Amino acid sequence: MMLDAPGRPLRLVERDVPEPGPGQLLLEVRACGVCRTDLHLLDGELAFTAPRVLGHQIVGVTGDGRRVGVPWLGWTCGECAYCRSGRENLCVRARFTGRDIDGGFADHAVADERFCLPIPDGYPDLQAAPLLCAGLIGFRALRMCGDAARLGLYGFGAAAHIICQVAVAEGRRVSAFTRAGDAAAQALARELGAEWAGASEELPPEPLEAAIVFAPAGPLVPAALRALAPGGTVVCAGIHMSDIPSFPYELLWGERSVRSVANLTRADGTAFLELAPRVPVRTHVTEYALPDAERALGDLRAGRFAGAAVVVP
Ligand SMILES: [Zn+2]
Ligand SMILES: [Zn+2]
Repeated sequence: MMLDAPGRPLRLVERDVPEPGPGQLLLEVRACGVCRTDLHLLDGELAFTAPRVLGHQIVGVTGDGRRVGVPWLGWTCGECAYCRSGRENLCVRARFTGRDIDGGFADHAVADERFCLPIPDGYPDLQAAPLLCAGLIGFRALRMCGDAARLGLYGFGAAAHIICQVAVAEGRRVSAFTRAGDAAAQALARELGAEWAGASEELPPEPLEAAIVFAPAGPLVPAALRALAPGGTVVCAGIHMSDIPSFPYELLWGERSVRSVANLTRADGTAFLELAPRVPVRTHVTEYALPDAERALGDLRAGRFAGAAVVVP
């Protein structure tokens, strides 16, 4: 499924099976998760060179039957100051799957073996795919919350439904914030252990020690600050967000902070994929056939499913 240019519908094309370069694996794609970042690319909110195959949560199988996961981080230089200080997620020359490298909305993909991740046994392909971005980026964002015992999740989609389970297993109390009236997402949040679920404009029963903003809506930042106790942190986990409206300094005062989380390191990937089966994280997945990838993206935009969407060739 090819994206020819921002704003155009994905197009089903026939291409030769890609040739793996040195150090790359040729993978038969079994499943590929759909991510909000795919919508940002589709909408031209992130730069990329077209045409491109989107999709950066790939569960694939090698010619010799080995199952691997391909995440967003597709390649790093290994030489820049960030790479040399354990922060390859900020590599100045990083290449990202489904943005700089063709991704997984296809029946085959090639990936640098050094950036592929082992998929834990016990996760069927469909259930494993959302772990590879929603899970990994969510996990990195959760780590940025330190040991906060009262955690707010703003936007209860693919990432939040995974991270809610991890946070609850760690003994944290979770409040879930959704669009007003999104009964399905709020019900899923309660089912997964959130002690409170409501609209983003509401205040939780007790002030939060940390909040993660997953939804790409800037007004959620002051909303989350308003719900935060002194010393708390708001972590913005998305790659793109609408403008953050101005807000009174009082909301930030009291050593509150706002920060973002960008991409992932391979260490994040390995750590999370070891943790997921021990929680155990269960993903709620809506399946789409590959030619319906465009419909999956539309359903994500409209909030027509709870949990995660996965495209299957
Ligand atoms: Zn993603
Ligand atoms: Zn680098």
